[in-house]
Amino acid sequence: MQVFKFGGASIKDIDRIKNVVDIAKNEPSRPLLLVVSALGKTTNALEKVVEAFFEGRTQDALALFGQIRQQHLTLAKYLLVKEYLAFESSFQEITTEAEWLLHDRPTQSYDYYYDQIVCLGELMSTLLLAHTFRENHVSAAWVDVRDILKTDDNFRDAGILWEPTSVETQRVLIPLLQEKGLVITQGFIGSTDENESTTLGREGSDFTAAIFANLLQAEKVTIWKDVDAVLNADPRLFPEAAAMPHLNYNEVVEMAYYGAQIIHPKTMKPLFNAKIPLQVKSFLNPSLPGTLIDNARTSALPPMLVKKQNQVLMTFQTKDFSFVGEKPIGEWYLMLEKLHMRPNMIQNGAVQLMAVFDDHPEKIGQLAALAEEIFNVIVQKQLSMFTIRHYNAAALKNYTEGIEPILVQRTRETVQMVYGEK
Ligand code: ASP
Ligand code: MG
Repeated sequence: MQVFKFGGASIKDIDRIKNVVDIAKNEPSRPLLLVVSALGKTTNALEKVVEAFFEGRTQDALALFGQIRQQHLTLAKYLLVKEYLAFESSFQEITTEAEWLLHDRPTQSYDYYYDQIVCLGELMSTLLLAHTFRENHVSAAWVDVRDILKTDDNFRDAGILWEPTSVETQRVLIPLLQEKGLVITQGFIGSTDENESTTLGREGSDFTAAIFANLLQAEKVTIWKDVDAVLNADPRLFPEAAAMPHLNYNEVVEMAYYGAQIIHPKTMKPLFNAKIPLQVKSFLNPSLPGTLIDNARTSALPPMLVKKQNQVLMTFQTKDFSFVGEKPIGEWYLMLEKLHMRPNMIQNGAVQLMAVFDDHPEKIGQLAALAEEIFNVIVQKQLSMFTIRHYNAAALKNYTEGIEPILVQRTRETVQMVYGEK
């Protein structure tokens, strides 16, 4: 049993969709579960539909949704002949339901509607893909993952209910995989026990693949990407970035924590728990080895560079010059918990506490307001954070010369700097 995950870029046009069919066809191992994202930038486009709908701009919402619908139908016309009608009828079913919703006036929360509408991206893409497989004489079953993957109702960042998800995986998914050999389903989406759609957070399809790999006790998960392998830096910023053939789970979690956009951060835990290896491979060059991520020790790793922009430094000073002891720190952490905020760096001094966050203006404002009760709060925006893991003297010299940091933190493994964006 294997799990393949295909992201939006891997199916963004006709040639790429055909390429995915070829990759799955050429993979001899069965059963094979394909976890698939929405086409290209569909999720972003659906977010615009939600905004229009929620602002009461019904006509705009319908028009924007109509465009997305049409893009899928146009692709289907190129890809499908004998399968076209079958595709179209299932496609109408799911899109008509969404259009009804768009005619309503919003009465529930933004996040609720977000999930009801944005989930369409994955439903539409997988339907198109499943019919394209059949068109090419590969029998593939399509499954609505919302019947299997159960979550709480924390819309837009839903938590997995492992127990019912495991039960439905055993009851529905395993027999289907055994019978059909190839099953196509959606990443990123799920549903509550009341059958409301939910989503797992942007880029969440990796996580879905890991959840199923865990529950199916898969031999391996492969995430197909448009890069040859996991690199030690973003090649757009550092052209000398190099492929890393092997990493372990821990290293990937660390890199994700510092802001490297490789794999969705929640992905590693279900894989680590079941010790399932993760392969990152290029869908453009499937013969390349890519990167293997497992639990084995890695040999010496090159310096890894991660740059995060849009950072905010918040300084919390005690009002009466008393030390920042356990009590104010305890209260401060409770505020973070309440607002679901996670600092990227913390530094504690005698009478002040400094923390760096991603710049979500609304949350920063809320935290500042809450914290004002016990601290004087200073907010500094337009900063960047640069992290080098496995640094050495040469890397420090090459990459940090000229940076005038406001804050530096250094351990044996990692050096981090926060500085003003120019
Ligand atoms: N389609 C979703 C997104 O763009 C989920 C994913 O691609 O993993 O965020
Ligand atoms: Mg994606």
